[in-house]
Amino acid sequence: MEIDFSEICYLKNPSSNTLKADYRQFLLSLYGPTVIDITNKESDDWYVITTLLHGNEPSGFIALHQWLSQKKKQNHINFRFIICSVEAANSTPLFSKRFLNEGLDINRCFNHVETSGYYLRANIIEHAVKAVNPKLVIDMHNTSGSSPAFCVSAHMDKQHLKLASFFCENLILSHITLGALMEINIDCPVITLECGGCNDIQANQVAFEAITTLANGVDLTSSHKQTIKVIHHPMRLQLAKDVSLAFGVEDQGNDGVTIISNIEQFNYGKCHAGQILGWLDSDGLKNLVLLDEYKQNVIDDYFYFEDSRLIAACDFQIFMATRQSQIAKSDCLLYITA
Ligand SMILES: [Zn+2]
Repeated sequence: MEIDFSEICYLKNPSSNTLKADYRQFLLSLYGPTVIDITNKESDDWYVITTLLHGNEPSGFIALHQWLSQKKKQNHINFRFIICSVEAANSTPLFSKRFLNEGLDINRCFNHVETSGYYLRANIIEHAVKAVNPKLVIDMHNTSGSSPAFCVSAHMDKQHLKLASFFCENLILSHITLGALMEINIDCPVITLECGGCNDIQANQVAFEAITTLANGVDLTSSHKQTIKVIHHPMRLQLAKDVSLAFGVEDQGNDGVTIISNIEQFNYGKCHAGQILGWLDSDGLKNLVLLDEYKQNVIDDYFYFEDSRLIAACDFQIFMATRQSQIAKSDCLLYITA
């Protein structure tokens, strides 16, 4: 598919004809990144919601379509929704590709020196975000595996904490620079809302409630306390270069890394020291890399290798563990926080 990376489409207060009968038809009617402005004459304030940066993470888009179709009114704000990786989401089967086979993960292309292809598209999306001088930006995603909802932010200040507390109970404070949209320099709070796994029924509801909450207006200055647990210093567990990956329930003597089949279960709770998380070939921990926020490999601090088993060396929390091999290989197996 030939992609025009400089293209972005604008819709303003779309009618029900434009929105089609359901979100699938609506998606099929789009052909590239699309900005939808829902204006409110009584206000100059804008909230920006981005979604579908990853084509296989539909909850934000489904919720947005539902909210627009119900023609709910928003209070004293204007909304700018930006639907990003339309081509990836649109390729068959719908919502199955994080990005196109020959493409790049656009949520790794922001704040980059490159200015062509997907980097150009990231620049154009960033420009569309900043153009309305928003009061806040929410980037909606689904986790690759089944998971409760949580927020991720690069900043820990009152406004970010307050904003996250409207949507979920946990905020991961991350200083890892990946080229994600939430890392752009902008003078307002920006958070990523991970609504839960795309097959988790509640994830669409989380996204819809987030839009409804925002539509009622959120006061980030009020001292009214909402609790949120802040989780610091996430680290990414990745395969070392050219290491093969399998999932299984026992040691099958595979080359490279075998991760336990029920790894996604750990997204819901703590992983305790001594827990077996998989099996490794004779190269042991050399098969894996655990990068902290200084990009140091700290794999030996958190795991050990014994009788071909990969074992947790201390208690930690696991996030975003996935059984989707392609994502586990190309992005990371999971995140951990101490
Ligand atoms: Zn995502």
